[in-house]
Amino acid sequence: MPRPIEALIHPDALAHNLQRARRAAPDAKVWAVVKANGYGHGIERAYAGLKAADGFALLDLAEAERVRALGWRGPILLLEGCFEARDLELCSRLDLWHTVHREAQIDWLAAHKTQRPHHVFLKMNSGMNRLGFAPAAYRSAWLRLSGLTQVDGITLTTHFADADGAAGVDAQLAVFDAAARDLPGERSLCNSAATLRFAAERPELRGDWVRPGIMVYGSAPDHPKRRSADWELQPGMTLRAELIATQRLRAGDCVGYGSSFRADAEMQIGVAACGYADGYPRLAPTGTPVLVDGVRTRLLGRVSMDMVAIDLGPVSQAAVGSEVTLWGRGPNGSVLPIDEVAQAAGTIGYELMCALAPRVPTRVA
Ligand SMILES: *Cc1c(COP(=O)(O)O)cnc(C)c1O
Repeated sequence: MPRPIEALIHPDALAHNLQRARRAAPDAKVWAVVKANGYGHGIERAYAGLKAADGFALLDLAEAERVRALGWRGPILLLEGCFEARDLELCSRLDLWHTVHREAQIDWLAAHKTQRPHHVFLKMNSGMNRLGFAPAAYRSAWLRLSGLTQVDGITLTTHFADADGAAGVDAQLAVFDAAARDLPGERSLCNSAATLRFAAERPELRGDWVRPGIMVYGSAPDHPKRRSADWELQPGMTLRAELIATQRLRAGDCVGYGSSFRADAEMQIGVAACGYADGYPRLAPTGTPVLVDGVRTRLLGRVSMDMVAIDLGPVSQAAVGSEVTLWGRGPNGSVLPIDEVAQAAGTIGYELMCALAPRVPTRVA
């Protein structure tokens, strides 16, 4: 039999979460962000759950081709735009919308021969200092683009650095508004955090398009301040394995590399077929939550390449073959949010889902 580990993708949960984004941003159109292979879920596997979106946003031309190959005829947006002039040929062929965030991308468009004018997202750097035109240069970029026959629509966009945190979006929104106020065109501002926290009450923020990514996959963008259940999000991915051994420890016995966990009394532990080579975070410490047969317990000692050790104290009937939920949906309606595992390991749900290893067999549940 194959090694007992697998990842499950839940289209029903993705569809629910997408609907949740719509509810948070009434009247706005929704880009389902599927960059990084649908945040590790697999674009093809996620598609069934996300095809009620108004468009798909991603980075890679190859990913855009995959979305078209699935039969999607609606908008596809390149969030980083073109990387070189030649990319515009594929934009024309696949009818892609693309971000314009620097002057050279306008030069390429001006020299591009196409029958079909493009829709572009003109990006402002409103304070994050990654991509975008400075506020003072924004209007002239807009004027240049709007003079091109190659362009037939310009959406105004920016991206928030602190939508999930205490700083919030107000400072960047003020910069954006001041520089874009009297320019015509649709607006797109909100990622998941801004959509969930602010879009419902603030139409000026909601704009015409929201761009939820992480929430669609069931992770709370502002964990632990708010948990996925608080936002009514469901896990889009389950990582599960089985116990392949159990051990009886005596007081003083140690577990795993570095002997970093030492039992202070007799205890029963299990060993699950999941390690860092499967994408489980190596830095998850003793105490990281895990479910065995749907019962919450904890990791013990260091994560190995192919195995983790688990405290079976709370689940005394567990044996070889018991189901181990590393994150996502467990048996009997149990759930272990990926955010809790990420937090224990000092990272975020985004990183864990994107890092699911290719060796883990993955299927649509
Ligand atoms: C990744 C990305 C998003 C989605 O962000 P989440 O935090 O996952 O919702 C939105 N907009 C842009 C420009 C992005 O790059």
